[in-house]
Amino acid sequence: MVIKQASEYVQDEYEPMVGLSALDVFLARVYRFVVLAPTTVAATSAVAYTITKLLGYYKAVSWVSLGIFDLTNILYFILALHFYHTGLRGDSLVKQKKLKSHKIAVGISILIQFNFTIYLIPYGEWWAFAPFFIFFTVFFFDMFLTMWVTLGVLASVFLSWFISPEIMRVPPGPDQVPFFLIRISYLIFSAGLLLSLTHLGSKYLIEELEKYANYDTLTHLLNRKSMDGYLREASRQAQKGYPFCIIMADIDDFKHVNDTYGHDFGDEVLKYVAHTILTGVKKTDYVFRWGGEEICILLKANIEQAEAAAERIRKDIARDSVNYKNEAQVSVTVTMGVCEYVNGMTIKDMMEDADAKLYWGKRNGKNQVVVRKE
Ligand code: GH3
Ligand code: MG
Ligand code: MG
Repeated sequence: MVIKQASEYVQDEYEPMVGLSALDVFLARVYRFVVLAPTTVAATSAVAYTITKLLGYYKAVSWVSLGIFDLTNILYFILALHFYHTGLRGDSLVKQKKLKSHKIAVGISILIQFNFTIYLIPYGEWWAFAPFFIFFTVFFFDMFLTMWVTLGVLASVFLSWFISPEIMRVPPGPDQVPFFLIRISYLIFSAGLLLSLTHLGSKYLIEELEKYANYDTLTHLLNRKSMDGYLREASRQAQKGYPFCIIMADIDDFKHVNDTYGHDFGDEVLKYVAHTILTGVKKTDYVFRWGGEEICILLKANIEQAEAAAERIRKDIARDSVNYKNEAQVSVTVTMGVCEYVNGMTIKDMMEDADAKLYWGKRNGKNQVVVRKE
């Protein structure tokens, strides 16, 4: 018999999500947008310039300049399409290595594009658009990327004021200082704002997503896919002599509750059970929503302690009831199977053992804790 490592079981079944941070999940969803958006905007502006020039405006812009501008935009668009197609894995998750090179390419394209725009299209207030260019990096929520693109764009603006002073449009004379001050403070303030947005987004938004990624929204219990990490850690601790147990709990006759009182009330019952279990375990234990109305508890305890805890929780759940529209008090019970980790056991073995005990309990009267099948 091939003995699997403790972590392998969960990893095999849920591989696509394991090890992914909330940022990865977020990027997988917005990747196409963040890669295509800048080039689409650039391509649209190129088309607009060309049409405007064809209509007889922008006399100061040479056809050669506009041609180069259009050509670069076509190249960017093709590049973005390439990223669009190659940046995602089959299961639509972002490929980490590709992502890194794509970010660099997006940053460099933005810098080249900004400089092209400044010099090829001699519109006197280009400096005011600098934050717009930086903005395209923000949704990667990568401080390093936004930082170097910001520095690049700001450096390009300051350089352009020497190379092509008309970009500044500051009237000559003694009153130049306030004009410069307004422009510089605008740029620094906007750059600061975009960097803060990136920082706050990566810190708080992603933290919030992390919560959603690990917790079940109905019961607020940890979800099944987050179990792997906790089980892995518990098995590691078990090697050092710290015991742990798994309890599989399943609500008795839950179908009947749904059928009698409706699915919404069923959800209420589920929340009640989840809440009672959560308040009945220690802070060091973890409670997961394993399936529909199956809850798995990971206890840092030996079998005797786990049995006592399960028995206490079972009684707590059975003692109280859930109020149905002030018409009925619905009581609910659970059956539980308890399994203790012993050396060499895989998580799969543990789950199967707890499950077998749970179903033994179901066949033998329900509303009970089964530690060993008599
Ligand atoms: P047993 O005592 O053998 O466990 O009987 P049971 O009726 O609970 O049977 P079973 O476990 O097979 O049925 C589970 C039911 O739970 C089926 C499904 O409709 C319901 N269910 C699963 N998830 C949810 C949920 O999120 N909300 C509600 N309201 N019902 C759910
Ligand atoms: Mg069930
Ligand atoms: Mg059930």
